[in-house]
Amino acid sequence: MKKYLIIGSGFAGSVIAEQLSKDSLIEMWEERNHIGGNCYTERDEDTGINIHKYGPHIFNTDNVNVWNYIQQFCQMMSYVNRVKSIYRGQVYSLPINLHTINQFFNKTFSPTQAKEFIQSLSDATIDSPKNFEEQALKFIGKDLYQAFFYGYTKKQWGCEPTELPASILKRLPVRFNYNDNYYTMPLQGIPKNGYTEIFEKMLSHPNITIHLNKRFTTNDADFSTYDQVFYTGPVDAFFEYKFGRLGYRTVFFEKHTSEGDFQGNAVINYADEETPFTRIHEHKHFTPWEEHEKTVYFKEFSKETEVEDIPYYPKRLTNDIEILEKYQEEINKLPKITFLGRLATYRYMDMHHVIANALEIAQKFK
Ligand code: UDP
Repeated sequence: MKKYLIIGSGFAGSVIAEQLSKDSLIEMWEERNHIGGNCYTERDEDTGINIHKYGPHIFNTDNVNVWNYIQQFCQMMSYVNRVKSIYRGQVYSLPINLHTINQFFNKTFSPTQAKEFIQSLSDATIDSPKNFEEQALKFIGKDLYQAFFYGYTKKQWGCEPTELPASILKRLPVRFNYNDNYYTMPLQGIPKNGYTEIFEKMLSHPNITIHLNKRFTTNDADFSTYDQVFYTGPVDAFFEYKFGRLGYRTVFFEKHTSEGDFQGNAVINYADEETPFTRIHEHKHFTPWEEHEKTVYFKEFSKETEVEDIPYYPKRLTNDIEILEKYQEEINKLPKITFLGRLATYRYMDMHHVIANALEIAQKFK
């Protein structure tokens, strides 16, 4: 039997383990005391509500294979993510849609009128947007950008939006109808019993041995006994930061509990620069099929990562890409190690991207 070592038990590592476990032996190292990476969910002790411990995860994809694959491990409940944004004391609808535009400009535009109006606000001097700000000015104009994106993005990324790639803004649509579904992906849902159950099922095969609380360090890893190693941790950590640290944003949460319903929605963003947190998530709204008298909600703050912080968002600034290229050269020299997932590839991947990529990689080893 082939023997594989997988470092990390998030989606990247767990999909590889699940796919290869039927006819090979898998050893998995996980530095935390639980499986599932940042998708981990657990019942909150105070309220009984299933909480997304590392922040909200709403499954969404346009990949039917991924959608069918994930449902082997959970009952996916249909869920549409509808996000609100508070700016200067008013509640608006996100992503920017006809309701947002009409409310913000105090109009009753039709779709065609709104489109023409927004086009008239576009900065015509920008041909191909080179950064986040240019992308916004071209597509929605200055006022909407200032209200909903400038302050929020500065808080989330800790830098001027001119320093960020245009691709970050392209994640969000602008709509000239009243569709307020945050995502454009046709397949969306939340697993009925949370995400942890998915990982438990994926990793349930007796050929998989999981070592929790086992942190990877280059020194105590003897890779020679494995046919292949799959590494899903941060790429810079693998090389002990020898070319420097890659820029990541981390988030941290301030927990509150109360009776009833705090904000009436799962996620409300706070667009004003002066509000110190970026958003509040109230987790009972992620499981509308459950009933809870109490509620638990989290104010989310964003900051630069320090040594022991959990890396969340790869910044990918010019300097980061230069460092990344040096690590990639080293990776190319290493035999029998595959780097995959958000942290090991240092890419802003969503859950479905990670799963699709891991399925493809696993295929090569089957
Ligand atoms: N964004 C913003 N205001 C919002 C929501 C998002 O400025 O109310 C920006 C922010 O820079 C974010 C990007 O748009 O990183 C993409 O949004 P998305 O919701 O995809 O970000 P995620 O939280 O998934 O990283």
